[in-house]
Amino acid sequence: MGKEIPFNPNEQAQVQIKPSDLTDVFCEKCDCQTFAQAFMFKELSAILSPTGKKSLVPIQVYTCTNCGHINDGFLPKENPGATA
Ligand SMILES: [Zn+2]
Repeated sequence: MGKEIPFNPNEQAQVQIKPSDLTDVFCEKCDCQTFAQAFMFKELSAILSPTGKKSLVPIQVYTCTNCGHINDGFLPKENPGATA
């Protein structure tokens, strides 16, 4: 009793994240809860490429391990000005 625990200024306050604070993410198609890392490729046109040649740009996404679906939330945000 009476002893104070010295505050260590070098120790950064750690944010404790409890599993209960997290929201589960499910596949939009089949409700599967596991996802695998995958890559989508975008083609960079020769006009826009700094090298003057067509090149492929990899974009990391996550696919459902059950049905292969990619949730919209995992997709990179498209430029709102560019509509396909
Ligand atoms: Zn799925």
